[in-house]
Amino acid sequence: MPDTLTIPTELLPHDGRFGAGPSKVSAFQIEALRAAERTLLGTSHRQAPVRNLVGDIQAMLGAFFSLPDGYEVVLGNGGSTLAWDAAAYSLVQRKAQHCVQGEFGSKFAAATLGAPHLDTSSVRQADAGSIVLPELEDGVDVYAWAHNETSTGAISPVTRVRGASDALMVVDGTSAAGGTELDVTQTDVYYFAPQKSFASDGGLWFALMSPAAIERIDRIAAGDRYVPAILSLQDAVKNSRQNQTLNTPAIATLVMMRAQLEWLMSNGGMAFAASRTADSASRLYGWAEASPVAHPFVSHESYRSPVVGTIDFDPSVDSNALRAVLRDNGIVDVDPYRKLGRNQMRVGMFPAVDPEDVSRLTASVDWVLERLVD
Ligand SMILES: *Cc1c(COP(=O)(O)O)cnc(C)c1O
Repeated sequence: MPDTLTIPTELLPHDGRFGAGPSKVSAFQIEALRAAERTLLGTSHRQAPVRNLVGDIQAMLGAFFSLPDGYEVVLGNGGSTLAWDAAAYSLVQRKAQHCVQGEFGSKFAAATLGAPHLDTSSVRQADAGSIVLPELEDGVDVYAWAHNETSTGAISPVTRVRGASDALMVVDGTSAAGGTELDVTQTDVYYFAPQKSFASDGGLWFALMSPAAIERIDRIAAGDRYVPAILSLQDAVKNSRQNQTLNTPAIATLVMMRAQLEWLMSNGGMAFAASRTADSASRLYGWAEASPVAHPFVSHESYRSPVVGTIDFDPSVDSNALRAVLRDNGIVDVDPYRKLGRNQMRVGMFPAVDPEDVSRLTASVDWVLERLVD
């Protein structure tokens, strides 16, 4: 095996960043940072310029998601991982039901299972690459699942559990939000972080919250449960209504997120984002289906994610060697989720990724495979 393979430039993607998170960041977002150098960066998050920036993001998220009446855009520090603990303290009254289709779903389940003030959560487990739907269950007041399971590339329907009228639907939209269609009315809390489809940096969480969710938050806050301030969703709601966060946010992250939202909205919003990722995904899965050595990992076609594609390779392919050559050529982060341990590549196809570059990626992979196999 040659130790250096140089992929011909005419095959290479124009941008080689295909991570499943963080997403590729676009040049116009860096320009937005430059433009914010004197006006926003290094200025107080309690003053009008940064609060207006937060307000712009809240308003654009509202427009992007066609936010129903009474829903609010809430944000805080700590990323989606913090939202799990915040939910365990501020949203679940007694008992949660979790659908676990991979790593991220299981981490949220671990958060409520570990919370001493809650009843033992019920956990519905799917095989990796498949999905499981929430099911009506007595005593459950939060149904939780991930819209897109980033570790496996399986996307789930987002539909309320029928008959669960007092329970809240709490959906992890971290990798799906901003990259695919969503009917927000089917959720009470749809939370995500800015480093996936919104192409910014990590560190914050956002949540679209229904009136029922806010009522639940207020009821729990009024009770006798101890809620650490950073996990208090009531504090988060109060601050968000003032276009602020409980503690200092990363202003650069907000600036880059606003730029991405402006780009998404000026191109047509959710419909644009969804068609762009669908285009990328049809190129990736179409290539894999035609390939003699590559296959979509998610066998059920309707569960194949448009934003994070997982492609299995036959044992004849050394995917570690393949990914090493790709990395040497500037195509980075197509690694499978580490704990999945498959002979696989995983491709982030967030809206920032040009669908044409996905075609170039698959052409590059073919080129390398011809030279690696045997
Ligand atoms: C990336 C991701 C997370 C973790 O987000 P952080 O902001 O790093 O905490 C959670 N859930 C899903 C579905 C993700 O894709």
